[in-house]
Amino acid sequence: MILDLRSLFVNDGETLPLDCRFDMSEVDFFGTCPLRSPVSVKGSAFSRAGIVTLSVECDCEYTAPCDRCGEVAVKHYNVPIERVLVSQLENDENDEMILVQDFKLDLYELVYTEVVLAMPSKHLCTKDCKGLCFKCGKNLNDGPCGCATKEVDPRLKALAELLEN
Ligand SMILES: [Zn+2]
Ligand SMILES: [Zn+2]
Repeated sequence: MILDLRSLFVNDGETLPLDCRFDMSEVDFFGTCPLRSPVSVKGSAFSRAGIVTLSVECDCEYTAPCDRCGEVAVKHYNVPIERVLVSQLENDENDEMILVQDFKLDLYELVYTEVVLAMPSKHLCTKDCKGLCFKCGKNLNDGPCGCATKEVDPRLKALAELLEN
């Protein structure tokens, strides 16, 4: 989605409201495509005192299996993007600035980059997810499986064997 921002660079005090949705359902994160619902992008680009700024918030619904228990969990992430837009390179250029050639900005490309960077490398259904029992595979969030209690201390086991003989 290409925004034409020429009027912002020409007229001070102007605001371009932004409210759009991007389909990112095919974007692959670690082998899954968790952004099943469109990413909503809201905010504006505006010119104030000779400075053109883009300020939006991206609302992302991240749906993927929990890294520990495998249950599908949905999390919402709000990714704010705020950048100064410049139409030509300046000496004090930094990462917060974006050069917009011919006053055109590819909003999708910017949102794509920022959203991909902001998504978590770890996805848990709850922060204290108990995961699966490594012996029987039961989801321990549903309650204990009983494996741990059946485990006998090897020293007690040796003693029990001695007493049996
Ligand atoms: Zn979990
Ligand atoms: Zn178990």
